[in-house]
Formats: sequence, structure tokens, C-alpha cells
Amino acid sequence: MNSVVDVRDVSFAYGTQPAVKDVSLTIEEGDFLGLIGPNGSGKTTLLHLMLGLHSPDSGEIELFGQPVDEFDQGERIGYVSQQATSGGGTMPVTVRECVRMGRFAHVGHSRMTHEDREIADEALETVGITNLADRRVNQLSGGQRQRAYIARALASEADLLALDEPTVGVDAESRDAFYQLLDSLNDSGITIVLIEHDIGVVTDRANRIACINTELYHHGDTESFVESDALAEAYGTTGTVVHHHH
Ligand code: ADP
Repeated sequence: MNSVVDVRDVSFAYGTQPAVKDVSLTIEEGDFLGLIGPNGSGKTTLLHLMLGLHSPDSGEIELFGQPVDEFDQGERIGYVSQQATSGGGTMPVTVRECVRMGRFAHVGHSRMTHEDREIADEALETVGITNLADRRVNQLSGGQRQRAYIARALASEADLLALDEPTVGVDAESRDAFYQLLDSLNDSGITIVLIEHDIGVVTDRANRIACINTELYHHGDTESFVESDALAEAYGTTGTVVHHHH
């Protein structure tokens, strides 16, 4: 099996305060990994480490088989950050332009063709925002903006989507529709890592769960997570770390 992300014995501290400690986990091609844990438990930090946005203090990380600090295929990754639903006032480009820029990342050094522009338009269609193509990204609602970023990732043919609480501030109906979109993208073979505080949302769709509170309390399939005590231990105050075999 091909690992999309391989994290080995990784630790990271902000100054002297450890945020991620001795974490090892792998994400395989086609996985839908739910990354959960209490507030401030290191989820965003771990995601940033996976994507090379932070450098670990110790341990190793590979992305698509490449050491993350040498990784040069950024077009394969679609990242939707926590801030994407709010703010965004600095994106005075239209949705269509934003998505075409994603295609631009895919074509790299060659020219954008008519077909490339069509592929970008199809990505808008896939996520259901064709009607918003001429709108500016900073004029979109939170949920619409998430879709625009997903379309951008699709246009660049990203095969890993990393999402950090993508539906914060999104109404319940749009949220359901958004998660259905994620399910269908995962069905089409795109690997997903999702940080989400609503554990039910995660256990309903993810095939794998990583549950952390600085240290890793569970990494494995969703069924064994549901049957385990990892949740109570990670969210409790006196929990001890359980090292699962997988
Ligand atoms: P989560 O995503 O699970 O809420 P984070 O990864 O954002 O957790 O944060 C983990 C810990 O690191 C928290 O205690 C947080 O306060 C701290 N932290 C996060 N970002 C920074 C930063 N830039 N500087 C210092 N401490 C930080």
C-alpha cells in the first residue's frame, strides 16, 4: 500500500510547551482519517506538521513517499484552513479565477489550455458553485467559500484534501451537504484528513481515526475506536495513553 502521509515519532513544542509528542501514524491512499481531540490538543499543529508548515523538533514525516522538507508536489494537496470560513477579506479575486489558479498549479510550467479552463469550470460544477463563478471569494458565505477552496483543489487534481474544522460557522443544512460532497470525493479516490470537533460526524464517515491529546490515544479503524476507551481517556483529565497495535 502507498502511504500518503507517514508520521514517525514526531514531537513538536512551541517554545517549551509540547504540542505534539511522540506521534506516529500513517494515512494510506483512499483513507478518510478523522483527526479528533479536545481543544488545544495539537490537532492543527499535527496537520501543519504533516503538510510541512511546521518542522518537527524530532521524528520524520513523509508526504507521498518524499521527506516533507523536500516535498515539491504542492498541487497534490488541497488545504482548507480553519480561517477559511471567516475573514478572507484579502481575496479580491473571483471564484472562477481562484479555481483557475488551482489548475495553474497543476499545469506547472506548461501553458493553460482551453481544456484546462474547462477542467476548472467542471470543478465548480462538481462542488455546486457554478452560479457563483463571477462572485468575489471574499463575498462568499463560509460554506460557499469552503466549496471554492475544494474546487480549487480539484482543479489542481489534488489527491489529498486536508481540512481543519471546515464547517465552523456554516449552517446545519449546508454542513450536511458539504459532508456529502466530502464523502463522494473520498469515494472517487481522494484521500481525506479531517479535523472536526463533532465526533459523530467523524465516526459516521471516517474509516480511520486518530485521537490525540498531545500524545496519540488511538490510531486505527473507526470500529475499534468506537469500541475502545480512547475517547474518554483523551478527553478526560486522568487518562493514560493507550498504545494500540495496528
Ligand atoms: P487544536 O488544533 O487541537 O485545538 P493546536 O494545535 O491549535 O490544538 O494547539 C496545541 C497547543 O499549542 C495549544 O496549547 C495551543 O495553545 C498551543 N499553540 C498553538 N499555536 C501556537 C503558537 N503559534 N504559539 C504558541 N502556542 C501555540
